Amino acid sequence: MTNFVPDTLLTPPEQEFVPMEQTLYVKKAPGAAGKHLSTALRERMQADNKRFWAGDNISDYVAESDREHLINEATEAFEQVLDALLIDRENDPNSRGTAHRLAKMYYNEIMAGRYEPAPDATAFPNDSADRYEGMLVVRSELRSMCSHHHQPVSGVAYIGILAANKLIGLSKYTRIAQWCSRRGTLQEELCNDIAREIMKATDAKDVAVYVQAVHGCCENRGIMAHSSLTQTTVLKGAFQTDQSTKKEFFDNIKLQQEFAPR
Ligand SMILES: [Zn+2]
Repeated sequence: MTNFVPDTLLTPPEQEFVPMEQTLYVKKAPGAAGKHLSTALRERMQADNKRFWAGDNISDYVAESDREHLINEATEAFEQVLDALLIDRENDPNSRGTAHRLAKMYYNEIMAGRYEPAPDATAFPNDSADRYEGMLVVRSELRSMCSHHHQPVSGVAYIGILAANKLIGLSKYTRIAQWCSRRGTLQEELCNDIAREIMKATDAKDVAVYVQAVHGCCENRGIMAHSSLTQTTVLKGAFQTDQSTKKEFFDNIKLQQEFAPR
């Protein structure tokens, strides 16, 4: 830059030139220079101020093609955990592939909702003269995991909605609920997440979500309470302000529970 001589034919003599303070970055191959891909991705999210808590979806940062590489990194890390727990993973036939099984299970199953983009929920217009005006209550089976202890959480979500201008396929409610739950969650947050994503997919403002679940962290450890059930409710719009709407929602849940006890 210091040796730069401007072309006198193109630039007036009084024109000043200063070097640009710019650095050129070249994308490294994953794992290059001894850096883990997971480290590089975490740094990228930190730089973007992107939150990556156990219950957050980070699919914008994790490409499908990165998955295998990340599973291999997690396998190595789980091997270290098993070693630290003094489990003979070389000779114990049942522990031999465990680190890899754990890594795959986290990425592809119990935390899949963090890495996969939102389910495609095509909306259909509900604006004809005889449009559906009533309440819809969908029951969705949930499998989740508490972010405190990584213990299983299992239960059901009842999603209530007053028909708005858009309708989505019935199975989409469950797909959205499961996408939200397959992460490390707190039940209170999960209930909020489902309500928010349903509102986003349907443009509806009247949405209610009731979740009841049993928590492995209360059943298998700690207080060892085997029949404890946790219930959470989020009420939006008319479900919150209109008592008869709220009552209809809970009456529907009771009918559903009589139909298929849960
Ligand atoms: Zn827990």
